[in-house]
Amino acid sequence: MTTYRTPVKRNVVVALIAAVVSIPLSGQGPAASANRAVAGSTNRSAVAPRFDLVKRSVDEAYARYRSDTSGKNADYIPYLAQVDSKLFGISAVSTDNQSYSVGDTGYSFSMQSISKIYTLALALDELGADKVFDRIGNEPTGRPFNSVEAVVDMGTHTGNALVNAGAIATTSLISGATADDKWKKILAFYSKAAGEKLSLIDAVYKSEAATNQGNRALAALLVKYQRIYADPLESVDIYTKACSVGVNVKQLAQMGATLANNGVNPITGEQVIKAENVPYILSAMTMAGLYDGSGGWAWHVGLPAKSGVGGGILAIVPGKGAIAAFAPRLDDAGNSVKAQKVITYVADQLDMNLFSPRSVGLKQ
Ligand code: GLN
Repeated sequence: MTTYRTPVKRNVVVALIAAVVSIPLSGQGPAASANRAVAGSTNRSAVAPRFDLVKRSVDEAYARYRSDTSGKNADYIPYLAQVDSKLFGISAVSTDNQSYSVGDTGYSFSMQSISKIYTLALALDELGADKVFDRIGNEPTGRPFNSVEAVVDMGTHTGNALVNAGAIATTSLISGATADDKWKKILAFYSKAAGEKLSLIDAVYKSEAATNQGNRALAALLVKYQRIYADPLESVDIYTKACSVGVNVKQLAQMGATLANNGVNPITGEQVIKAENVPYILSAMTMAGLYDGSGGWAWHVGLPAKSGVGGGILAIVPGKGAIAAFAPRLDDAGNSVKAQKVITYVADQLDMNLFSPRSVGLKQ
């Protein structure tokens, strides 16, 4: 059986708060990031959360979990094994373009599987929801993200757009005259979602491309079932590049805020993702965003989210904003331990669980 496993290793975390007031707590300063509150008011949106409450809960989460050393870096991609396990950052960006970030906010990590939601968004924009649902599907696999068994056992074979097989097939749906055209289109789309130019972390790409025999095998298996729609090796290569796109935690939250804001980037005002496609993307994230940890996540947190083995997790609060957290140590399913704890804490403090009537203000 193909299983993703990460043995637990302990370490000490020392990280800092780079808050609005930029108070250095010790000598090693993470890049202070510009935080934005709407001037002269606490809020300018009927639904976006209040900046002061977001700030407080993010600061509390940062202080509460900064010393947590559970989990272990991904090591099946050699580059990721060497990333400093102590890195830790949190960012929240609202649909009314307020932002608050703490920790290692300048560090660029690879999106890994978080990229899959934006490739899905592009495929939806190009083909429409019915074709994407027909060609990929949206059923949870209940298996590790790189499962061969899921491809064999599931009727759709692709499962959903957020596991490796389904994501490689989704990548194969993206149109373009050449592989390079497709890749450039994907990167430009991700950049528009972030509102900033993003780029490939070449060392991550090379490291993963040299060790992605498993993904090449998944693509070959999809050929057998006629569930991949372009050259399989080309599709794996573009997928690998997409996974190797670098973001810092704030750029990731900005990408999330675009989804939360009906596909309109709250910074640039550009309609990046068709509004009609946003619910499909969030449904995929709810079913499969944390792989075989997705059910537990829905139970405890109740927010569509997506993790990546680079250590990032992005959670979307529809209409309100997005929370991104980054910390490299992962659990057995491949989800960042600290990022899960941070988002769980903030979502709970701010009553954001979408399955709770409290999230829309009904209190008893
Ligand atoms: N690039 C990684 C892979 O294909 C992405 C996996 C992940 O983030 N879960 O294995």
